[in-house]
Amino acid sequence: MDIPVDFDKLYEVGSMMGSGGMIVMDETSCMVDVARYFLAFLKEESCGKCVPCREGVKRMSDILEDICAGKGKDGDIEILEEMSKAITDGSLCALGGSAPNPVMSTIRYFREEYDAHIKEHRCPAGVCKALITYSIDAEKCTGCGLCAKVCSVRAITGEKKKAHIIDKDKCTRCGACIQSCKFDAINVK
Ligand code: SF4
Ligand code: SF4
Repeated sequence: MDIPVDFDKLYEVGSMMGSGGMIVMDETSCMVDVARYFLAFLKEESCGKCVPCREGVKRMSDILEDICAGKGKDGDIEILEEMSKAITDGSLCALGGSAPNPVMSTIRYFREEYDAHIKEHRCPAGVCKALITYSIDAEKCTGCGLCAKVCSVRAITGEKKKAHIIDKDKCTRCGACIQSCKFDAINVK
């Protein structure tokens, strides 16, 4: 929050001045998912001339997809770091030279989020679908039934005016129920 927005300062912290846009994220954004998103975009953007960029960005993207899908492995962070350096050093243009930035900076500042995904199979921001579970807080639930009405897979059941429950096997983690509950009774962890 204290970093001045100028070219040199942003470069120092592993970011860069873009073409005029700035994205502000809070704790509800998953930093691993953010890195996954950018690498998925960048692998399509690589012209393919430099092998480290063409193959490396794709491989990094695959690893990030796996981590977000709950298939992360010990050593993935270190491989991402190694590949980041190889791609940065071995690419001719600015795309390859900066493609690993989202990964390097998220590892640098939010390494604990990577650890949570890989070691604890948990997405602290509640974003990565394979790593989250929806549940209803019986203390807060009034049994209004609104969530059950919006759940397209009928994963929510309960009697009127009594606490409802979510069938975790049926739940597709779409998030529609959270939007509908006026009592903040639905948790995602
Ligand atoms: S919308 Fe909220 S309060 Fe109403 S039944 Fe669902 S969880 Fe309970
Ligand atoms: S997250 Fe979606 S599928 Fe799961 S209980 Fe809520 S509305 Fe139903």
